[in-house]
Amino acid sequence: MITLKSEQEIDLMREAGGIVASTHQMLSKAVMPEITTAQLDVIAEKHIRAQGAEPAFKGYHGFPASICVSINEEVVHGIPSLRKLKEGDIISIDVGACYKGYYGDAAVTLPVGKIKPENAKLLEVTRESLYQCMVYAREGNRLSDISHAIQTYVESHGFNVVRNYVGHGIGSEMHEEPQIPNFGKPGRGPKLEKGMVLAIEPMVNVGTWEVETLEDNWTVVTMDRSISAHFEHTVAVGKDHPEILTEMNSG
Ligand code: MG
Repeated sequence: MITLKSEQEIDLMREAGGIVASTHQMLSKAVMPEITTAQLDVIAEKHIRAQGAEPAFKGYHGFPASICVSINEEVVHGIPSLRKLKEGDIISIDVGACYKGYYGDAAVTLPVGKIKPENAKLLEVTRESLYQCMVYAREGNRLSDISHAIQTYVESHGFNVVRNYVGHGIGSEMHEEPQIPNFGKPGRGPKLEKGMVLAIEPMVNVGTWEVETLEDNWTVVTMDRSISAHFEHTVAVGKDHPEILTEMNSG
């Protein structure tokens, strides 16, 4: 069942989303060659807690850290470690925060130093697929209009969307209904209504869409070890246009 959020609940989700956004802003300044992903995790956890929130991923199904960090061919759910970032890497960082019982969730893929132009293109196309599809998060559309917009945009640039992991509803739980695939025909699924809040998250591979999980039981990698990018925002469905709850507005 999809739960509709009241205006008061969306207010709390704006707070949670703002904390996620400011965490991403700090991390984007910290990402550089030689920093370890464990150091990034410490920065994120301290900042989230200093805002009076909880890192939503820590302990979630036993996940051992506050953020997910997925480098190069890693798609999602990578665990922070003593691995150092290298010039030319790309790193996907996923941040979740819970504030007064409500969640925000957002991800971004960042270049480490100077990256190859073809890798920069993957980042640009994945980010743009998120912004293109979010336009559809308004009343009267159907859920799969979002999914279709992602797939169409990504495939028109010769990349592939991951099928096994999806976006999701979000609110007083981090993962709520509905599931939001990053592919599919338009005009299907539930009608979008004001009060729905969605975490939309295209995961895009240069090569095959197929993925597998490493022996740590968390890190998802592309089957062909081609590189992968991930962008996500928490978005409130609006009458005419969506409101992005995890975007940094000011200061
Ligand atoms: Mg998510």
